[in-house]
Amino acid sequence: MSTVTDWSLDPRVRRVLSGLPLPIKLPTPLHRDNSPQASLQGYRAGLTRLQDDLDLTLAQILLARGAAVAVVDRHAKPAFASQIRQAGGQVTAPAGDLAATFAGVAARGDRRPLLVVHRMVAPPDISVAELPSAASMDGLFEAGQAAALGPKLSRMVVVADVATQPTVGQQVAIEAAAGMLRSLHKELGPQGGTCHLVRAAGADTGAVAELVAYLLGGASAFLTGLDLLAAPSRGPDTAPSGRVALVTGAARGIGAAIATRLALDGLQVWINDVPQAQAAAQTTVTAIVAAGGKAQFVAADCSSEAGAAAIAQALQPGGRVDVIVHNAGITRDRTLKRLALAQWRQVLAVNLSAMQRVQRALAPLQQPGGSVVMLSSVMGIAGNFGQTNYTASKAGVIALCKAWSQAWAEQGVRCNAIAPGFIVTEMTAQVPLFNREMAKQLTALLQPGLPEDVAALAAFLASPASRALSGQVLRCDGGMAFGA
Ligand code: NAD
Repeated sequence: MSTVTDWSLDPRVRRVLSGLPLPIKLPTPLHRDNSPQASLQGYRAGLTRLQDDLDLTLAQILLARGAAVAVVDRHAKPAFASQIRQAGGQVTAPAGDLAATFAGVAARGDRRPLLVVHRMVAPPDISVAELPSAASMDGLFEAGQAAALGPKLSRMVVVADVATQPTVGQQVAIEAAAGMLRSLHKELGPQGGTCHLVRAAGADTGAVAELVAYLLGGASAFLTGLDLLAAPSRGPDTAPSGRVALVTGAARGIGAAIATRLALDGLQVWINDVPQAQAAAQTTVTAIVAAGGKAQFVAADCSSEAGAAAIAQALQPGGRVDVIVHNAGITRDRTLKRLALAQWRQVLAVNLSAMQRVQRALAPLQQPGGSVVMLSSVMGIAGNFGQTNYTASKAGVIALCKAWSQAWAEQGVRCNAIAPGFIVTEMTAQVPLFNREMAKQLTALLQPGLPEDVAALAAFLASPASRALSGQVLRCDGGMAFGA
């Protein structure tokens, strides 16, 4: 784990400050679990439906990961209910509304965080005029309230079915759910709680269940407010052996954390960085090897043709690359009136064009079922004072990710972008103190992320567990207000 952290999470500082009338809010420390199969032991899971295969698979995966599962559904399918009971879960009809039912358990002294999984299935004949009194909207309200009333660190995922040709009523219902969750994540954040929307659009039930389990687990503790489309899988549901990964800009910071995490997951990792970063890269390689992983350093400027060719040459003898993480990035912050053309070009070259150069050079080695992860930034979505070059490059990454995802559909290669918010690294150590504190206060979880948070997300995107995702932009930002 990273040694970097934030003063507001230091227990001694918190003890001193907790009694003082401060103008700022202190965050709730998160429970992170970055182990490859993050356990849900110590959590209660409340599901609001048990009527079809997806409901059953969701309940089963949460039970398998160790959560105490309770399904509250008056219309639960009896055959499914007996399967869940046999596996150790409960299936009941609601006593009052859902929030009251879940809160009733907590009132009896159970302070385990609550994981609410709400399946939202809007019937085709739903009309906008009927929405306010529709069962699907009441269910959304009650499930959300259950999460809001739950103990600290409670989480929620709404799984909304997307019909192939949705009616206007169905479209409006889903967008209303998305709007509700954009607000709810701000209410849950100070308590360390999170919520997300998964739009299930033809994805297989196992893939949706693995995505939901990830969003409820400790590996995604810093993610909140995501709105994801789960589409039919492109790759296998288990990883082939002997996978090889390349991570650019991996000598330090987020890249080093990603490389370390992928090596822990059993991938053979190539760490790329500029020759000047040799010492830091070697430290990362040594740490990975000492922990039993496989890593090698390839020194190259990934923004040049020669550098991309050098990377391809290093990987060539192995004959394959399964995972490519385009992470190398730089800032050259200046207001546009002071920015030199060279600084504009340099940032676009490293943060954006390098991805295409490296990708082209590695195309002959790219394996079907593989995964490409690109580092964008929340600032690429929102814009930021003094960062015209950086935000141009990071917005370009999002467009490139979507284009690649479409182009590679036939080859079975997935491509997703991560948009980190404020992550504690050497890059953000340069941000003035006041701006850093403001950024935290404008974040739902009231705290910065760690390189390990981005690494856990990259590892998930690299794994078959995320096979329902491609062309998605995943904010790793603790729910930043910017660009929301
Ligand atoms: P960092 O500066 O700590 O590390 C970046 C690494 O990239 C360095 O090791 C650097 O030597 C390497 N690099 C730079 N140019 C290169 C080149 N031409 N070829 C090969 N390597 C090169 O940065 P970080 O904070 O770890 O950020 C990693 C990525 O995440 C970047 O793309 C950054 O824009 C993005 N990001 C970071 C944050 C944050 O809060 N730290 C927020 C949003 C996005």
